[in-house]
Amino acid sequence: MGPKRKNNYPLQPLPLNAAAQLMQRGCNSFKIKTSPAANAALSGAYYQEHVGWRRACTNRGFCQTGCSVGAKASMNVTFISYAIHFGAEVRAESFITGFGGNAAGNITAVIYNRNGKEEKQLCKNVFLCAGAIETPRLLLMNNLANSNGMVGKNFMAHVGTQVWGEFEEMVRPNKGIPGGLISEDMHRPPSTGFAGGYILQSIGVMPVTYASQLARSSGFWGQALRDKMRTYNHTAGINMHGECLPSEQNFLELSDEKDQLGLPKPRIHFTNGDNENKMSEHGEKLMVQIWKAAGATNIIVQQRMAHTIGTCRMSDDEAIGVVKSNGQSFEVSNLYIADNSVFPGSLSANPALTIMAIALRTADLFLEQKKSPL
Ligand SMILES: Cc1cc2nc3c(=O)[nH]c(=O)nc-3n(C[C@H](O)[C@H](O)[C@H](O)COP(=O)(O)OP(=O)(O)OC[C@H]3O[C@@H](n4cnc5c(N)ncnc54)[C@H](O)[C@@H]3O)c2cc1C
Ligand code: SF4
Repeated sequence: MGPKRKNNYPLQPLPLNAAAQLMQRGCNSFKIKTSPAANAALSGAYYQEHVGWRRACTNRGFCQTGCSVGAKASMNVTFISYAIHFGAEVRAESFITGFGGNAAGNITAVIYNRNGKEEKQLCKNVFLCAGAIETPRLLLMNNLANSNGMVGKNFMAHVGTQVWGEFEEMVRPNKGIPGGLISEDMHRPPSTGFAGGYILQSIGVMPVTYASQLARSSGFWGQALRDKMRTYNHTAGINMHGECLPSEQNFLELSDEKDQLGLPKPRIHFTNGDNENKMSEHGEKLMVQIWKAAGATNIIVQQRMAHTIGTCRMSDDEAIGVVKSNGQSFEVSNLYIADNSVFPGSLSANPALTIMAIALRTADLFLEQKKSPL
């Protein structure tokens, strides 16, 4: 964990929904500290430069699908608006398929498919931010930045075990911001027998998502699934997001199967290691205790991994990394990567804020370097 924030957040936290209140009740019985999650959604109207007034969250819980009021800090109401203000042009519906290069090994053009037609954009520098699956896929397809064979290696995903229970109270799990309450007490728990740690988080869920989870992870089907869904309004969940260690057994490669453009699909090899299994067991035991203390019955546990991380590791060592600490490729000097593929480890928390921080840092370092005399 880093140092404490020097300033308060500009707005109050969002109200705690039912799952968050139940988690608070359960955690209080074990003196586990909790706090409202620092969710990137507005609890009041907020004026944002180059965007305008953004509205407060209406607490209808649709965040996973997309926020229709602009309260959630999605890219369209934050960084993309900023970029457009400063002169960026957005070419929507464009899917990058390749790159043109010169004899010096630099990228000279980006090639993309737009509405079925191939187009080309000449470039001086490329910032590749396609995420931990599509970034390595593009590099592998184009045989770029990979002479040490590290592109696609060390794929990671958070240990994301979930515990669900039924409560006497009306819960309405679709209401309110989904991850309303967190606890960081397990960030580095003592004497556990595993490395790293995890956060605990309350969860809200939409009915269709819950039904699909019950079918996929808990084997409910047909009448049993219908009966279980009748308890939906009295259901609440708690989950963990825990550190996953980088491992050479977990990697992404190109498959023989092709996508609609005829390009090789990515294939991911991933299995929990001993450390992830021990952490999941620890989290499961604790979350079941918390849920029982909060009053839950008919508890079910769903094993799960969350978030895609790694595959283009940032490192000081050229032999084991794909990019340097400023996000620049070791091999292709005008290629920068700024997404969750550069994470050397997975962190014991949800990744979005760190992705944004790394991307801003990469941009700052690039601009500084451009200013300095050659
Ligand atoms: C349902 C859901 C809930 C989540 N909740 C949380 C949360 O509460 N907190 C948290 O921290 N994280 C959360 N995450 C994870 C978080 O959203 C991701 O880790 C994060 O968005 C990854 O950022 P990125 O910039 O690396 O990649 P992305 O956000 O995936 O951005 C990559 C972009 O590249 C584009 N792209 C890919 N390939 C190409 C191509 N060939 N040509 C052109 N464009 C391309 C994609 O369309 C996409 O827009 C959640 C994820 C999901 C799916
Ligand atoms: S609950 Fe989520 S989707 Fe709904 S307004 Fe709030 S931030 Fe937006």
